[in-house]
Amino acid sequence: MNILVINAGSSSLKYQLMNPETGEVFAKGLCERINIDGRLTHKVPSKDIKVVRDIPMPTHAEAIAAVMEILVDPENGVIKSVDEIDAVGHRVLHGGMKFVSSCLIDEACKQAIRDCIPLGPLHNPANLMGIEACEKAMPGKPQVAVFDTAFHMTMPPKAYRYAIPTKYFEEDSLRRYGFHGTSHRFVSKRAIELMGNPAESKVIVCHLGNGSSLSAVKNGECQDTSMGLSPLAGVPMGTRSGDIDACVVQYIMNKEKNMSIDDCLNMLNKQCGVKALSNGLSSDFRDLEAGAARGDEACELALRKFCYEVGKYIGAYTAALNGLDCLVFTAGVGENGPETRKDICSYLEFMGIKLDPEANKVRGDEMKISAPDSKVQVWVIPTNEELMIAQDTAELC
Ligand code: AMP
Repeated sequence: MNILVINAGSSSLKYQLMNPETGEVFAKGLCERINIDGRLTHKVPSKDIKVVRDIPMPTHAEAIAAVMEILVDPENGVIKSVDEIDAVGHRVLHGGMKFVSSCLIDEACKQAIRDCIPLGPLHNPANLMGIEACEKAMPGKPQVAVFDTAFHMTMPPKAYRYAIPTKYFEEDSLRRYGFHGTSHRFVSKRAIELMGNPAESKVIVCHLGNGSSLSAVKNGECQDTSMGLSPLAGVPMGTRSGDIDACVVQYIMNKEKNMSIDDCLNMLNKQCGVKALSNGLSSDFRDLEAGAARGDEACELALRKFCYEVGKYIGAYTAALNGLDCLVFTAGVGENGPETRKDICSYLEFMGIKLDPEANKVRGDEMKISAPDSKVQVWVIPTNEELMIAQDTAELC
């Protein structure tokens, strides 16, 4: 089976054509600068092919058309005709309270995604554009929506309700939703497999990348997660502030006389986090580590603050789960940052977590990194959101 996985953003669109059973990726790529000018980067891993082409992309429709064209291209393509694509799986950011799992796309599903635009104003319109562009390019092809929020819908009210007047929940659905759900589902499922599928399990997943979130998972079901109504909440991230006292927003807006609430939120999303703590140097942990090694105190603070906050969340989620069997690190920093993992785990020695320093050198591979006498297993498990989307798509089509 060939599944085309699409992750459409407002000005970009990532794609992978893959086999959901084996996980083999036949081709993958990125359309950038949609709505501006347009550039396609296309790769065929088995043939070491990398093609970069400037192609006008006034809308997502032209981007999808360019993807279809290169996938069937005699030289750089991997299929003879679009008929060889069995189905399309879309990453959709916000499923609100309507979607607890992935769903075959029909008019009702599209309307429900549209209804969630107030909750995901930046991403849901782009996700819909990706879906509609695929409908146009491949009429009648089965399509599936896989929601970033769905895995977290098993949270109990005490975890998802905000302590604000009830009418905002009842009338406006304001609550914690959480994101990166496809990654948390993939990685927690794998962790449970690696533990030998015990009947009962308590797992904390640390998805640490440019965006970061943690989840507390009991018996395979999410109990709590660090992002909230939007991905701004939780630990400090590459450019997002993470949890912040709302009065900080009031103070900054009073001080910066011309700043609108949208400008302020834009700053909290794009100019904060470790980038702000490093005095604007970088949101990339590799740059911060290099800076700290040169003796840059701001880089050092950015790294230490990040690890401290992640460590605190793990402590809180261990209490939420009333114990812990397995701690997992995933995503760019989680998979590739031994120093970060070591610093985070230094806050957890009190609960018997001990790393194996040799195993913790791993970068990008699945590996148990806890010492044999650690009371809690600690793993690095590479995430694969595209595979999860492809598997859900294959199952529903
Ligand atoms: P992601 O959002 O999951 O793609 O993660 C991206 C982030 O992972 C980058 O911003 C880097 O900070 C981090 N990262 C990737 N590779 C490495 C590495 N080898 N060492 C440390 N951090 C890394």
